[in-house]
Amino acid sequence: MNNARDLLSGTSSHYANRLTSLFRSLFNREGYVSLIRACHNAFTKFRSHEPELRTLPSGKHSLTSDKMSPQAKMVMERLVDAGYAAYLVGGSVRDVMVSLKPKDFDVVTDATPEQVRRTFRQSRIIGRRFRLVHVYGRGDIIEVSTFRANSQSVVHVANDDNSDEMPMVVDDNTYGTIEEDAWRRDFTINALFYCHADKSIVDFTGGVRDMKLRLVRMIGDASQRFHEDPVRLLRAIRMAAKLNFKVEKKTYQALLELPGLLQHVAPARLFDEVGKFFFTGHAISSYEWLLKTGYCEHLFPNIYALVHASPSPYRKLIQCSMEETDARFQSGKSLSPGYLFCVLYWPIVQEHIKAELKKGARVSRALATSFKTALESATQQLAVPKRHQVMMKAVWSLQYHLERQRPSRIDRLLEHRYCRAAVDLLELRVRAGWSEGAELADTWRQRLNALPSRENHKRPRRVQESRGRLRGGSARKRRPLHQKSDQQDNSDD
Ligand code: ATP
Ligand code: MG
Repeated sequence: MNNARDLLSGTSSHYANRLTSLFRSLFNREGYVSLIRACHNAFTKFRSHEPELRTLPSGKHSLTSDKMSPQAKMVMERLVDAGYAAYLVGGSVRDVMVSLKPKDFDVVTDATPEQVRRTFRQSRIIGRRFRLVHVYGRGDIIEVSTFRANSQSVVHVANDDNSDEMPMVVDDNTYGTIEEDAWRRDFTINALFYCHADKSIVDFTGGVRDMKLRLVRMIGDASQRFHEDPVRLLRAIRMAAKLNFKVEKKTYQALLELPGLLQHVAPARLFDEVGKFFFTGHAISSYEWLLKTGYCEHLFPNIYALVHASPSPYRKLIQCSMEETDARFQSGKSLSPGYLFCVLYWPIVQEHIKAELKKGARVSRALATSFKTALESATQQLAVPKRHQVMMKAVWSLQYHLERQRPSRIDRLLEHRYCRAAVDLLELRVRAGWSEGAELADTWRQRLNALPSRENHKRPRRVQESRGRLRGGSARKRRPLHQKSDQQDNSDD
């Protein structure tokens, strides 16, 4: 050792001394034991993924006030001035950290809903199960909720294999601390808090680490948390598709094992969640994720069988419609769930018509029963609102009438509220491979383009999309439908 020390001089001798004492401690029993213990602790901590509270100070993260909605900033300022804590949480923090524009800005606070309500004149307490406050202003609504703890109120639901029962949350309205609020959230990347007071990001669950690893990781035991609220299954897929993240191994395993839990989700909530897959600019990747996780089969069993039979003429139709949906989102055009559902369930309509005609049914009967079957199929799992069902039926029916293009009906078809959506579907079918329809689709597009422009006309009152209207019925005079360059605005409320 002395030789080694002699080789070093100046400040290096300091390191030589430390090295010497390290070697000495290694060879004395106590030092050896403490070294092993330290390694063991570090390894256990690493294995358990137990995160420590981390704070990213201002300047060490990308969430600056210019990326926030001014209304969210004002809400936090007022809460802090009134003596309460105020944080941004959830999608807003997450999305800014990956350079996406947040859909909304959610604020959490230690003030109760009543205290928040008293702080803002333009506000309203909403919700019965989850009481939170909507604060209005500057054309924006900010949702302010009180820190909540994991719920005590659960019911038990049977597992898929009936082997065990798992708790499902029925009441999520127990107030708690900020830390409890973090642990009750779904994924670590959704549990980051931006503190308005010192502009830092506070992380209780390891969200910062997972943002870096680009991982969707369930907080706590994945299987148990999916059982508590099966909507989290769809949220995991949506987050991964939207952020282009991977799903962490244990979360992914549970996700693949538990699609059956979706049966416990209310059909209206399921419909909302399905909409979020397709109307936030990530329809293509969401659809791919739904396919690869097997959730497509669970959400749309009848369509899946037709689209993924091989060879299937419908695969390209769905693909093209997803591309179109994303393109419309990127260019800021409106999107109508009714139209997307028209496309998704079109394979059922088509196949049913074919089967009915083969059996010798009359065209009108084949159409009527195929629409009924397709709508029943759509509403089996999801609570598709009535107005979308009306649109779906009208657009399907219009396909037949546009194809026939009886001269006496052309004007009335052009007046139809959903004519633009129907021509869009016609064009989509052509893009997806129905080449004989190309000329027909062009003709209808030209007819639509030749209509007087929207500005010159008032929107006509709601018109009936009943079969009677297309069949002739009483020839009520209607004002011409206005011109509109994109289908979906024109095709739904
Ligand atoms: P986006 O708004 O972009 O769809 P988001 O994560 O903000 O994504 P929201 O529905 O706005 O989704 O929810 C806000 C936050 O509430 C989430 O980030 C998450 O922390 C929490 N959250 C939402 N749904 C659940 C759930 N089912 N279980 C636990 N926490 C949830
Ligand atoms: Mg959100």
